[in-house]
Amino acid sequence: PKSRDGYQWTQSTGLIQGVPTLGLIQPSTHFTRNKTYDVIVIGGGYAGLTTCRDLALAGNNVLLVEARDRIGGRSWSSNIDGYAYEMGGTWVHWHQPFVWRELRRYGMMDQLEVSPRKNVEGGAKVTVSLDGEVRHLSHDEEDATVESAFKKFINVDGQFGRSVIPYPHDIEFNMAGVQEYDHMSMADRMAQVSMHLTPLEKNMFEGFLAITHGAKWEEASFFELLRWWALMNYNYPDFMAIGLTYKLRDGQSALARRIFDEAVATGRLDYTFSTPVKDVVDHGHGVEVTARNGVEVFKARRLVCTVPLNVLHTLVFTPALPRLKTDASLAGHVNQVVKCHAEVANPELRSLGATNYPNGRLTYTFGDGTTPAGNTHLVAFGSSLPGVHLDPEQDIQVTKQAFEAFHPDMKVQRLVFHNWHKDEFARGAWEWLRPGMTTKYLQALRERHGNVFFASSDSSFGWRGFIDGAIDDGGRVAKIVHDELRVVRPVGSKL
Ligand code: FAD
Repeated sequence: PKSRDGYQWTQSTGLIQGVPTLGLIQPSTHFTRNKTYDVIVIGGGYAGLTTCRDLALAGNNVLLVEARDRIGGRSWSSNIDGYAYEMGGTWVHWHQPFVWRELRRYGMMDQLEVSPRKNVEGGAKVTVSLDGEVRHLSHDEEDATVESAFKKFINVDGQFGRSVIPYPHDIEFNMAGVQEYDHMSMADRMAQVSMHLTPLEKNMFEGFLAITHGAKWEEASFFELLRWWALMNYNYPDFMAIGLTYKLRDGQSALARRIFDEAVATGRLDYTFSTPVKDVVDHGHGVEVTARNGVEVFKARRLVCTVPLNVLHTLVFTPALPRLKTDASLAGHVNQVVKCHAEVANPELRSLGATNYPNGRLTYTFGDGTTPAGNTHLVAFGSSLPGVHLDPEQDIQVTKQAFEAFHPDMKVQRLVFHNWHKDEFARGAWEWLRPGMTTKYLQALRERHGNVFFASSDSSFGWRGFIDGAIDDGGRVAKIVHDELRVVRPVGSKL
């Protein structure tokens, strides 16, 4: 079963749009016309799926309305010859409590696999392009270099950010430090510390950061990095272990599927895929949703909107959304990072780590697995800095060459990717806010608007911008909506 989303290229097939995925839902609709549901959920990413499941399990009749032909939103995997390539959200960790609970719930602990392999005997090590010259480093040297730079960059308070963010899941938005660093851009912070970085540190760390926020330096808030660092235990080894190490063998679509299937099995989740929503009208006694085709109209007592921040302003709400929500969406988060996979016929590249910053169209790559054919799977990221942003499907030879630039002897056999930048239902990758946006907009984005509620990884507390944040926020809103809808039966005081 192939989704319309994503692209695959091999020499023999050329570029093909659409890739196979466990996340495709067929038949694509299952609902009752003219029924008034308890809740409509717009969007079937992790936030929407969690909301649907929790509400359906609690006894509510729910309708999921999703623009795509598949579940998972920005986290989904293409399953090619039984091997998963992660098109979006990938790495998870036991320090991410909400996604970890899901993995336990569905007995998926045996699915965990390690992406980067550093200890392949005789395998490739680290290459760095610096001022046109290629340098070779051991993995330990790479870690020492990036860690040294990272600590200088983060250490605003002599405590590596602890005094600014002592509780990463419950940030004090009025605190002076939070206000100060939220208004600071990555460019501002780099200007403060760059004289303390060696040329190698600067090159490798900037290359790493450029694909962390996926924006121009002056457009990305420094506070978001402080928050990631705090969530990742205020140290570099945990940052790498939590952020870029453990993934699921069958891919994120396998987990998304478990959540969806459990919800459907209640008999209380209906759905309609390939149905982009255009209008939402709150009549006070209930909510009406009209699809983009103008034909389908759905009704419910409450609505949960889980579309990405960058998409919210494309839906028309009556009554209109409060100014702060609309302004936040129009400003948008800034991450337009590029993610691309290659299958290469070089088993020794399983332990490769390579950077090609600032000139590469892809700037960072590492071994992500071994394919069924025994080839190396490399995952690569590109920044969106002016002049180097890559739209991988536009010229596949350019994309192939961007991989080949990492290593002199790279035999690219397959390319797999999803262009999030051009995706009208995402308009970007993982959330990374602009300077000042967290303190100005975050609370407002989370507030209900009459019978309309909002859940998203883009406005969650805690692991905002991650899979965990989506599941956290979906569960939060499901509980609020359920508590409001349920008939409260007082518990008898006499037994
Ligand atoms: P989404 O998944 O975007 O779900 C929103 C849904 O709304 C989508 O299905 C969309 O189609 C739908 N929708 C939009 N418009 C409409 C409309 N008009 N009508 C109906 N439906 C609509 N996180 C991690 O934890 N680890 C990682 O390694 C990681 N890597 C990432 C790499 C990439 C390239 C990307 C893009 C993201 C990554 N993330 C990662 C972040 C993570 O994927 C997201 O934070 C999370 O999946 C977002 O979930 P969500 O439900 O909030 O939003």
